[in-house]
Amino acid sequence: MTDAPVIGVLALQGDVREHLIALAAADAVARPVRRPEELAEVDGLVLPGGESTTISKLAILFGVMEPLRARVRDGMPVYGTCAGMIMLADKILDPRSGQETIGGIDMIVRRNAFGRQNESFEAAVDVRGVEGDPVEGVFIRAPWVESVGAGTEVLAEHDGHIVAVRQGNALATSFHPELTGDHRLHALFVEMVRANRTPDAL
Ligand code: GLN
Repeated sequence: MTDAPVIGVLALQGDVREHLIALAAADAVARPVRRPEELAEVDGLVLPGGESTTISKLAILFGVMEPLRARVRDGMPVYGTCAGMIMLADKILDPRSGQETIGGIDMIVRRNAFGRQNESFEAAVDVRGVEGDPVEGVFIRAPWVESVGAGTEVLAEHDGHIVAVRQGNALATSFHPELTGDHRLHALFVEMVRANRTPDAL
């Protein structure tokens, strides 16, 4: 397995460890990324769940926000869960003051969208591109996608709201597959990274 892709997890705040474990289970070499030099060494990157305002502020403080934008713009595969989804949105409907995103997916997200009554819940979610049974969606103060641009593919909805999307090499889910032990979404992402790294391989 020497050809395993190297996938980073942005390790400024959030559930980094769970993503490292899920990526390793999906046959990637997984490592935490905090600094621009570490970012330069990975084939793909996961943006974990956590608190998107905190992640945004720390990314700026650590000098990694612009390098992140540059790599995403250059087509590095990236997968954001929950707060990570927010980080990938070109626009946040209700940003906190000073909150910035990396961007990369033509969508508008609404933070904490499911509301107080429903802050955390689980639901079966059918995700396009994931074979077999629906995924167990763990939603924790989750965002939803308010609207998408023409180039953004909707992969899943819950209760009429968009909760999984893909645009090119950028994938995002409102929910947390890293918390369930079901590694199919991480496997899908690892495949995206492999395809991007070796576009000519058969
Ligand atoms: N509500 C959080 C935010 O706005 C996201 C929650 C999560 O990642 N579980 O960043």
